Amino acid sequence: MQDRFRALLVTKDRERQSARVTELTDSDLMDGDVTVSVEYSTVNYKDGLAVTGKAPIIRKFPLIPGVDLAGRVLRSQNPDFHEGDRVVLNGYGLGEAHHGGFAERARVKSDWLIPLPQGISTAQAMAIGTAGFTAMLCVMALEKAGITPGSGDVVVTGAAGGVGSVAISLLDKLGYRVVASSRRAESEGAYLRELGADEIIDARGLSDEAARPLDKQRWAGAVDAVGSRTLANVLSHIKYDGAVAACGLAQGSDLPATVLPFILRNVTLIGVDSVMAPREKRQAAWHRLASDLDLSKLDKMTTKIALDDVPAVAEQIVAGKTRGRVVIDLKA
Ligand code: NDP
Repeated sequence: MQDRFRALLVTKDRERQSARVTELTDSDLMDGDVTVSVEYSTVNYKDGLAVTGKAPIIRKFPLIPGVDLAGRVLRSQNPDFHEGDRVVLNGYGLGEAHHGGFAERARVKSDWLIPLPQGISTAQAMAIGTAGFTAMLCVMALEKAGITPGSGDVVVTGAAGGVGSVAISLLDKLGYRVVASSRRAESEGAYLRELGADEIIDARGLSDEAARPLDKQRWAGAVDAVGSRTLANVLSHIKYDGAVAACGLAQGSDLPATVLPFILRNVTLIGVDSVMAPREKRQAAWHRLASDLDLSKLDKMTTKIALDDVPAVAEQIVAGKTRGRVVIDLKA
């Protein structure tokens, strides 16, 4: 007899997309050599777009969304993975073209799985999730570009969101002076300071006005989760030899900027992608997260929900109304 498990399934009828929690069996799962008992997943901005259908993230219907999962191996055809191993998976088209993490069970390719480093629980791995993993990639990109705590301040945009919250905590622990840019500077000020922000600025100063080609040099580095006018304004404020790690598009995917920061101030704009990041980089990032992220701060930025809550939370994250990270407890 096949085991039944609960999953959030997104279906499409003509142009109408809908999401509901249902019961599936192993035969509903896609191909893969490892079956995972999913303990936790998480709602990222991209998952919000996928579940609400506000952007064409899902490329196959019906599909279980969820770009992240963490859990234990149930069955494995790969000798490198054994029953009970703790694993984490993000990206590789999970929740886009392959059934994702919003289910009690997943069958995936072993190449996509990363053994979870000691010191990070499956719940903490999902409190980090794609957003936190991407924040780590952004910090590693700034380090590679030579930005050190001595270079000057680092600004984090979309500060109260998932990428922003983890980026602030990481940068603070690594000794950087962190400037948090948030549209919720007033309501989330105490929260951002608790994470490690040294200064909080109102994001509207960056998001609302068209950027000047060059502006006052304020920051040595930036982690930008917002894109559009915000990224253009950030670039015009970066100091000589500074760098910006750009990973997001919460404001928009356009970039209304000039080349002047690059050619007159030697500024570097670094693109950061988590989905197809190579395996060695993934392993390095998860190990850095195990050592460089203050897990007590992770608890402060995390809200736990159940699978049934996901459709409502998906609407909230797309509206920019969630704070920090949202973890789905699949054992609840
Ligand atoms: P969240 O929704 O948690 O955070 C985004 C934050 O951006 C919000 O909390 C808000 O911060 C700010 N924001 C939202 N809407 C707007 C707007 N219209 N104008 C200006 N600021 C806005 O999302 P995540 O942290 O999960 O993801 C952030 C971005 O990074 C997304 O665009 C996502 O797609 C992208 N991303 C990219 C990845 C990659 O591989 N490149 C991986 C992960 C995420 P506040 O209220 O503080 O201003």
